[in-house]
Formats: sequence, structure tokens, C-alpha cells
Amino acid sequence: MTDIAARPVSCLRGVGPRMSEKLAEAGVEQLQDLLFHLPLRYQDRTRVTPIGALQAGSDVVVEGEVRVADIAFGRRRSLVCRIQDSTGTLSLRFFHFSAAQKNNLEPGSRLRCYGEVRRGASGLEMYHPEYQLLGEDEAVVDESLTPVYPTSAGITQNSWRKLCSQALDMMAGSSLPELLPGTVNPGMNLVEALQYLHAPPPDAPQELIRECRHPAQLRLALEELVAHNLSLEKLRRQQQALGSNSMTAGEGAMREFIAGLPFALTGAQQTVVEEIFTDLCRGLPMLRLVQGDVGSGKTVVAACAARQVMECGFQVAIMAPTEILAEQHRESFAAWFEPLGISPLVLSGRVKGKARLQALEDIASGAAQLIIGTHALFQADVAFQQLGLVVVDEQHRFGVHQRLSLTDKGLRPHQLVMTATPIPRTLSMVAYADLDCSVIDELPPGRQPVQTALISDQKRPQIIERVRAACEQGRQAYWVCTLIEESEALECQAAEATWQELSDQLPGITVALVHGRLKPAEKEAVMQRFKSGEVQLLVATTVIEVGVDVPNASLMIIENPERLGLAQLHQLRGRVGRGTEASHCVLLFKTPLGNQGKARLTAMRESTDGFYIAERDLELRGPGEVLGTRQTGLMEFRIADIQLHGDLLDRVKELAGEIADHHPAQVDPLIRRWLGSAERFATV
Ligand code: ADP
Ligand code: MG
Repeated sequence: MTDIAARPVSCLRGVGPRMSEKLAEAGVEQLQDLLFHLPLRYQDRTRVTPIGALQAGSDVVVEGEVRVADIAFGRRRSLVCRIQDSTGTLSLRFFHFSAAQKNNLEPGSRLRCYGEVRRGASGLEMYHPEYQLLGEDEAVVDESLTPVYPTSAGITQNSWRKLCSQALDMMAGSSLPELLPGTVNPGMNLVEALQYLHAPPPDAPQELIRECRHPAQLRLALEELVAHNLSLEKLRRQQQALGSNSMTAGEGAMREFIAGLPFALTGAQQTVVEEIFTDLCRGLPMLRLVQGDVGSGKTVVAACAARQVMECGFQVAIMAPTEILAEQHRESFAAWFEPLGISPLVLSGRVKGKARLQALEDIASGAAQLIIGTHALFQADVAFQQLGLVVVDEQHRFGVHQRLSLTDKGLRPHQLVMTATPIPRTLSMVAYADLDCSVIDELPPGRQPVQTALISDQKRPQIIERVRAACEQGRQAYWVCTLIEESEALECQAAEATWQELSDQLPGITVALVHGRLKPAEKEAVMQRFKSGEVQLLVATTVIEVGVDVPNASLMIIENPERLGLAQLHQLRGRVGRGTEASHCVLLFKTPLGNQGKARLTAMRESTDGFYIAERDLELRGPGEVLGTRQTGLMEFRIADIQLHGDLLDRVKELAGEIADHHPAQVDPLIRRWLGSAERFATV
């Protein structure tokens, strides 16, 4: 018998060419893809709830006799049908309806409905319930919980349910090949596990399933995580197989560069520089992630690598997530490299027209050796002469695909990825399995940890006084206005209002404003005035979050810090404490503060260790948010959840290694099963 699981979905009833196409778009081509299209959650339609026992907010099945069905003319015309059972009455409300539908709801007929109970104008109501008319003999209720599938354009829940249950029926009695090593899953056969999750029995432990801890889920989650891990490893091997240029000849120049710096590298920086040096000499593309807390000095480490690569005649591209940061890198690199006759070229969104064409030409001809840019570097018309190294700063702002799209352009350049958001080990193992990891776990000498205080916004006047006193002593300060309901426009308005307020209340102190809506040149001018010390107080939105380096600034006020994630707060706070001066950060929270908010801000007060804070953030918020939304493409699992299944990850690493070493033939089928045709990584 041929492999049923690999049959095309077109063998199912109801799947013609159009449906096939829609399914393919959702990554579903074979029967097994349907089996692994797992429900997000379940509805309980296995029992009928008496109307008298209904509670607003629950999804339930009710049955009753139609009393009336009438059109109501309120703010919106609607069809309202009242049904009754022996315990009470309930209104069903339809805003979209046909005359036939109204006529069908004849008084006296019996209905079964499923929907969400809400509190409405006439007591409890259901809006647009699913319903069916019941015949003489009562139709039976569902025997299993009803799955709710991840949707996709043009495929209804009903279609998913029918298709998945057909696929399951066809699979019943046969089995899917077991791709994990033998002893892993005693007791639970793969098809049984899938069957269970597509159609759990009415007495299924729903709580356990919601927490993703049911044995059937654990069994599948383990396999899925192994598949992801293997796919990233495969990506890594593919890149490595291509080989790259050895940069050995640049060693002398790199060591000279270090000797000429105005400071000595810290021990941690030295270690990482040596790791990078070794990578660059191997003739294989470097794939390295450097994690280092804010202020640990990652930029100069990248500069050492850049020096070595440029000495060998290759170009270096440095990617920054914001214009401000690109500009700052330009300054640092110019200070280091202009004495050597190398001027960095900036390519960002603001470089337009003729200037842009000139820049593109210099990049293509190789006249530009060192290119610093923002997202603009990803554009298709940017062609390098000979790209030898890509440095991606603040990786969490870029997706994996963007990182890979740059390497597409070059001749397999070396990749150095830098992040100040310490990624908990559990996450990096899955999200960055294709990268080697270095850690800068030491700050330059003389830094003092930032003292953090939680203060309620009722004490705002006292805080403004404190800012005045600090500025009068020659210190500089940031006043940060945080995101308002995700709206940049509102955030900027709030920052302007705060700037006005502080300017009025602090005569004699120079207050400036920087936010995302300023033109890049304006932003830069303000930052320059702050850097030079002319501006004493900088009111800013979170645009200053990443990378900004003004060592004399030693006080930061963050308004409404409860709106931000811990990683982001940690980044912000990292803007102070960069000099030898003792620094302070005030988290000016809005009262009342919920328990979660309190727990998060307390973590900030207790620690300045980015790794500790990242672990707490993960605990309190979950991985999607920790890695940033741009990363979610990578983190989309069918069933696994890195946070809920963190305890599986050691096992995952072990198994992936064992399969790669001893069962290499299983690798591709595993990746195919779980990543399906959506295996985007391996195509780069
Ligand atoms: P981050 O790791 O947050 O990107 P930066 O690279 O911006 O940190 O470095 C922060 C500051 O520390 C910069 O002003 C940089 O010049 C300085 N710095 C880096 N390394 C050292 C060192 N070994 N000794 C003294 N200062 C250093
Ligand atoms: Mg930096």
C-alpha cells in the first residue's frame, strides 16, 4: 500500500482545484499536512445548557422552542427570535438575515443554537448563533469537543472540520512513520495523539489541554521542536557548505587597530574578538551571535572584525535598526577609521535621489568599503562589489529573513549578529540554533550600576524638582514618554506636551525634544546638541531606546514604565550609567499599578543584569513578545510553545543531535512533516 499520509488533499471529498489552491496557500498539500493542522482551541458542544443556567461570556449549546421571531427597528435593523425552555427565555439576534430565515423560525419549532451568551438590551442574548431546527426525534449532541482551527483566507471552520475529520478517517487503522528514535514515546502512537487532539472526548481534561500539557500535546510538541531545531541546523550546514573567504591576512591590521584604541579591551571583549578572529580565518562563513548587555562595548568588537575584513580587500556592511543609531555608528566608525583613510558611507531611507545613486555606485564599484545603513540596505537595487562581512546590530529588531536576504546579496559574507537584549538560553536555542553564540559578560571598568526607584506619578512635581537640581549640578537627563496605545502620533503629541510643560517649569534649563516624527536631520541636530552638552534635558519618546551613547547623561525619568516590556525598559535604562558618574533611573508609574505591573517594575529595581531581566520578562510575558513581533514568523509553532514547553528543550537538543548523527534519513521527513512547504529557511 502506498503512503496514505503523502496523498494529495485533492483525493478528499469537497476538494476541487480551487480548494486545493487555497489549501496550498495555507501550506496544506498532503493528507498529513491536514493531520498536523492542529486546533487552536475547542468548543464544548457535547451538552445542552438549560437557559436558566446561562452566564454572559460563555460559549454554549442551548435548545428551546421558538416563541416569536420579529424584526426590531433599533439603531440597526435586526431579526430577534425568542426561544424558551423549561428554565427561561433567551433572545437570538441577527443583523444579517433573509426573509426566508425569518419565515423558517416559526413559533413552536424547536431550535438548537451554539454561540456566545452576552448581556444585551433584552437580558441575555446570542448574536448570530449557529443554529439548526430540530426534527421530531431529537438529534444527538456532538460526541467530541469541537475543534477551532487556525483560519486562513477562504477556508471556513466548517471546511477545516470536514477535511480534517475525513483525513483522520482515512488514516484510522494505518500509522504514520515514527521519525523520532524508538524509545521516545512509549504508549502514545502518533495517529492516536493526532486523533485525540482533533477530536477530544467530552471528558477530556480541558484545563490540561489549555495549558498544553496533555501527553498527546507533549508528544507532538517534542517532535515539532526537534523538527525546528533540525531545520535551523540544516540551514546552517547549507550556508557552511558554500564556504567563504578566509580573512587571515587581516590579522596584523586588526591587532594594530586594538593597540591604537584609547582604551584597553575588557577581558570579555578580548575573548569575543578572538572567537570572531578564529571564525573569520576558517574559510567558512561565520554565523555568530554576540550577546552583551547594554554598554558592554559591542560596537568596538564589530569594528575589530571590520578592520580585519577590510584589510583583506572586502566590503563591510553594518545594519542598524534606526536612523539615530546608524548616525551614531557612523560617528564611532569615522573616529576609528578616518585616520586610516576609510570613510564610512551611510545608506538610509533619507539618502535619496542623486545622493542615493552615487552611494549605490560607490557600493557597486567597491569605492565604499564601509557601509552603514538601516533597512534601506535590504533593498533589491543595492549591489555590493565584494561583501565580506555583515554586522547586524540589535538583532531583535530584524527578522531572520531580513538577515538572510542580505547574505543573499553577497558572496556568502561572514555574519556577525549583535544583540543587547539578552535572549534566555531556552529561546536562543530555538530561535538562533543556526548561530554560534558569544557573550560579553563584563562592563568596561569604572561603570557604576544604575540606581532605580519606583515612584508614583502623584509625586511628579518633586521629580521635576530633582531634575532641576541635577541639571544645575551639570548633569544631563532624559525624560522618556512611552508608547500610548501603540500610536506613534499620540506618543509624539504626549512628548510635545511634556516638553512644553517641562520647559515652562524649568526656566534657565535648556530642554529639547526628540521623537519619531521629526525629520532625520532634525533628530540628528537635537542629539548633537545633547551630546555636546548644550541641551541639559532631553524629552524623548522610545526612539532613543536603542544604542544611543551619551556618557554624561546620568539621570533618566521614564513615564508610565508599566506600558513597556522589561527588555525595552532595560534598553532604555542602559542609556544612562555609561560614564563614571553614579546614575539614577526613576520609573514614574501611573497609579494604581496591577500586580503584574508591580512584579515587573520590581524586577527592574532589583537588578541591572540583562539576563536576569530577560528571564523574568519571559516568565511574565511569553516568547512572542520577548523576541519582538517581527520575529514571530520564526516562532510560529503548530503546537509547541517555548514557554510552556521550556522543560522539553534540553531533550530537544539531545534528540536533534542523535537524529542528525545516527538517523540522518529522518531529518528531511521530520522537517517536511512539521515545517511543510513553509520551510522558508532552507531555501535561502
Ligand atoms: P553597546 O554594547 O551597548 O553597543 P557601545 O559599543 O555603545 O555599547 O559602548 C558603550 C561605550 O563604552 C562607548 O562609549 C564605548 O566607546 C565605550 N567602551 C567600549 N569598550 C570599552 C572599554 N573596553 N573600555 C572603556 N570604554 C569602552
Ligand atoms: Mg550598541
